[in-house]
Amino acid sequence: MRRLRRTKIVATLGPASSDQPMIARLFAAGADVFRINMSHTTPERMRAIVAAIRAVEAEHNRPIAILVDLQGPKLRIGAFTTEAIMLEKGASFALDSTPTPGDAGRVHLPHPEILSALAAGDRLLLDDGKIRLVVEKASPKQALTRVDVGGRLSARKGVSLPDTTLSFSVLTKKDRTDLEAALDAGADWIALSFIQRPEDIAEAKKLTRGRAAIMAKIEKPQAALCLGEIMDASDAIMVARGDLGVEMPLEKVPGIQKQMTRVARRAGKPVVVATQMLESMITSPVPTRAEVSDVATAIFEGADAVMLSAESAAGQYPAEAVATMNRIAEEVESDPTYRAIIQAQRAEPEATGADAIAAAARQIAETLDLSAIVCWTSSGATALRVSRERPEPQIVAISPRLSTGRKLALVWGVHCVVAEDAHDQDDMVDRACRIAFKDGFAKSGQRIIIVAGVPLGTPGATNMVRIAFVGTETAPQE
Ligand code: PGA
Ligand code: MN
Repeated sequence: MRRLRRTKIVATLGPASSDQPMIARLFAAGADVFRINMSHTTPERMRAIVAAIRAVEAEHNRPIAILVDLQGPKLRIGAFTTEAIMLEKGASFALDSTPTPGDAGRVHLPHPEILSALAAGDRLLLDDGKIRLVVEKASPKQALTRVDVGGRLSARKGVSLPDTTLSFSVLTKKDRTDLEAALDAGADWIALSFIQRPEDIAEAKKLTRGRAAIMAKIEKPQAALCLGEIMDASDAIMVARGDLGVEMPLEKVPGIQKQMTRVARRAGKPVVVATQMLESMITSPVPTRAEVSDVATAIFEGADAVMLSAESAAGQYPAEAVATMNRIAEEVESDPTYRAIIQAQRAEPEATGADAIAAAARQIAETLDLSAIVCWTSSGATALRVSRERPEPQIVAISPRLSTGRKLALVWGVHCVVAEDAHDQDDMVDRACRIAFKDGFAKSGQRIIIVAGVPLGTPGATNMVRIAFVGTETAPQE
């Protein structure tokens, strides 16, 4: 079973899509990665969803990536004595450490560490940015603010702090519990929400100890400012346009999306474009023209994956939304302008053997019109470097490690196959041909290129390229 596109699809699971038959439908429609959002999922429920995904994976014998998204420090105000209050522009309003219900003049902010971090001039955005307050005077007990944009405010609405860098860890107690549960359940990717600095990722890496790869969600302006260092510290990034659009002017988000995609492509690490991609499909079986264009833009930029949030988690048309993304990706990738646009952003190979070989393999494969680039990869590193080249032929990654196969399901252009390690070079070539044939990447009489590190299993030792004919004798006998 093979996909006819390079860009991957991440589908968020939720009330509309958590049972096994629906997960199977989403997979058949094109989902390569399933995301479980811990903001709305208990650890028990997460474990049940993981089991359902693994059952679908076993049924199709194709590795599927599971991305567990930690909630992060989602800040909220306290309650009011009335159902809601009205804030008028220019009025003064206090946030304080007193845990009693608030009124038109004040409300409890149940996060003492934030009160201590606020400074005069900092903005506070409430209820997804609908209300804006500016701090005039701050103390650890109370922040006195002026209402800049007013409106109706009800209990426990979210608070965003676009100007304040918090010195404490972004991993909350809930995140730590959820992280352990996710690693225990066998998650392949962990997404970190509201990270601000590279140190936030280092902390998560210390806790995961290589058991899962780390994706940094860029959803705060502070994170966008140190993108390079965050990219270095993490294994992938997500353009989290939902919260980015709350914390910075909306019109800045498209430019940041382009910058992020370029930084990730240069680093050779996956980048996911997320949020509101097919928003109208929550309630409609067809998307808007603008949404189709938005998904297409991400694909033209060479993003590794496009993501569905509420469309697949809570909408009325989860499978249709996945199928729509699948169709857009197939169409864009076969557009006559696509190759030239993708190539324009290709980064030069770094001065390593792996990069030199990845670049050479792409060039040979494109010059000779070979049907696939097959790479043997243990950790997935070789496949990532080949993917960084964004080659025209599809990449087939063969790994003896199931965890590698699953992780690579997120990566642009990579079709992963989990198979026992080759015992020598002939076996490596022979099995590469068989697998390419069996999975539909090469017909008999066509040629493929094989990339590997020999001796096998030596990490970082990519040093071999071979061109091989896929013969009739490689017809599937296994
Ligand atoms: P969320 O993150 O869906 O967890 O909020 C994505 C975003 O903010 O865009
Ligand atoms: Mn978010």
